[in-house]
Amino acid sequence: MEFWYTEKQTKDFGITMRVKKTYHSEKTDFQQLDMVETAEFGNMLLLDGMVMTTEKDEFVYHEMVAHVPLHTHPNPKHVLVVGGGDGGVIREILKHPEVEKATLVDIDGKVIEYSKKYLPSIAGKLEDPRVEVKVGDGFMHIAQSENAYDVIMVDSTEPVGPAVNLFTKGFYEGISKALKEDGLFVAQTDNPWFHQDLIKNAYRDVKETFPVTRLYTANIPTYPSGLWTFTMGSKKHDPLETPKERFTDMETKYYTPEIHFASFVLPKFVKDLTE
Ligand code: SAM
Repeated sequence: MEFWYTEKQTKDFGITMRVKKTYHSEKTDFQQLDMVETAEFGNMLLLDGMVMTTEKDEFVYHEMVAHVPLHTHPNPKHVLVVGGGDGGVIREILKHPEVEKATLVDIDGKVIEYSKKYLPSIAGKLEDPRVEVKVGDGFMHIAQSENAYDVIMVDSTEPVGPAVNLFTKGFYEGISKALKEDGLFVAQTDNPWFHQDLIKNAYRDVKETFPVTRLYTANIPTYPSGLWTFTMGSKKHDPLETPKERFTDMETKYYTPEIHFASFVLPKFVKDLTE
């Protein structure tokens, strides 16, 4: 049965889309999970009513979460994804032959299960031999990890519900401990139109924890405001100093070596959040 779904991105603003079919709707142990087919963006995963990923525009987010850090690190062998149960970031990580092992820790196994079933183009690589999938709290996994990873990607939901701990200074300090001595991490840090404080606080906390801190952006039409940010904390390597020989002719649809550098050039009102 067709209907229009509106995601309230703030209490006063939202996006609306025509839904052609509902494949699955369930209150899991952690969140409301809805998998639908939309007329404009194909199949779409919603968690607690928020757009997580869609078949049409997912490549932007997944390429930018994965390829910016994986090109910045000179030799990323062991990678961790916190969240990311839809499998998109894992699919992009596996395009890097130097990665020997990618571990994914998502708190909700149902996200993995239904992404495999209804988002095969996104979740299709979760069974790759280089991938280890764990169902658990990323905060606990980080707390129990030490000197283990070259790159960590925090592909979590918004800081409400199960992900609330994933935007704290304590978590970023835990990430630093879980990283190797020249490790680096990236976290999705929402949008500068409706969540300026989140970006400001995350940047400040990361900057107090890592010697190199950078903010970069990408255009994601189905995310609130369409302008998305990512915050990188690095113990040694600076993304702006990535040598050109690190770049290979990788199959992508958004990320390019030029975008790698340009994504760090910020509009004034965004740059002001990092000062
Ligand atoms: N790309 C999306 C975005 O930017 O909002 C995120 C996609 S992914 C589906 C988000 C995942 O974070 C969900 O599958 C959710 O279960 C997971 N998650 C939330 N809190 C978590 C936690 N504490 N530990 C591990 N995974 C968590």
